[in-house]
Amino acid sequence: MLNVVLFGPPGAGKGTQSEILLQRYGLVHLSTGDIFRANIKGETALGQQAKAFMDKGELVPDSLTISMLESEVVKHPDSKGFIFDGFPRTSAQAAALDSFLAGKSSAITCMLALEVDEEELIKRLLNRATTSGRADDADETIVRNRIAVYNRETSPVANYYRDQQKYRGIVGVGSVEEITQRLCSALDTFL
Ligand code: AMP
Repeated sequence: MLNVVLFGPPGAGKGTQSEILLQRYGLVHLSTGDIFRANIKGETALGQQAKAFMDKGELVPDSLTISMLESEVVKHPDSKGFIFDGFPRTSAQAAALDSFLAGKSSAITCMLALEVDEEELIKRLLNRATTSGRADDADETIVRNRIAVYNRETSPVANYYRDQQKYRGIVGVGSVEEITQRLCSALDTFL
């Protein structure tokens, strides 16, 4: 299986690039943010629990997030692999994902990390708010909190994959096509 973690701060372009990569490599795209938003829209119990954290730009607790992710993976038993977008966001999630995949005789192939500086991220997210309809994109205080949470809780996850020689940093600024090209070149080194 080809299992890619597409990593990076909010606004780095993970969603956009995931959509392109899933077609090129025939993968299933799992975005934990999208799944939480679908649960909020569907007014499920999970959605209600997640919403309180998402509205503040905080992380949803690991226990909820990990069990949700695992139940999504098992919905695709015949998949050639997955693009994990927005997951793992904590070291506990990374370890849980490894042991879950090991139980399926699989593993993460690589982490591709989009690198974009903070002021550019804030500009992109506030701009995205005009079309995304996402309340957490529209409020600069929440946007800044999401980036702070990323720096504090999520960026250390990169070391987890560095230690396994699975990490590649990718310049996340330029045209969509240029960034896709960089991601594909990096990904192809793992095939
Ligand atoms: P995103 O769409 O990836 O920007 O995620 C939106 C929000 O969903 C985040 O600010 C978190 O509140 C929540 N979220 C998404 N993925 C995770 C995750 N892996 N762990 C915890 N919370 C998450």
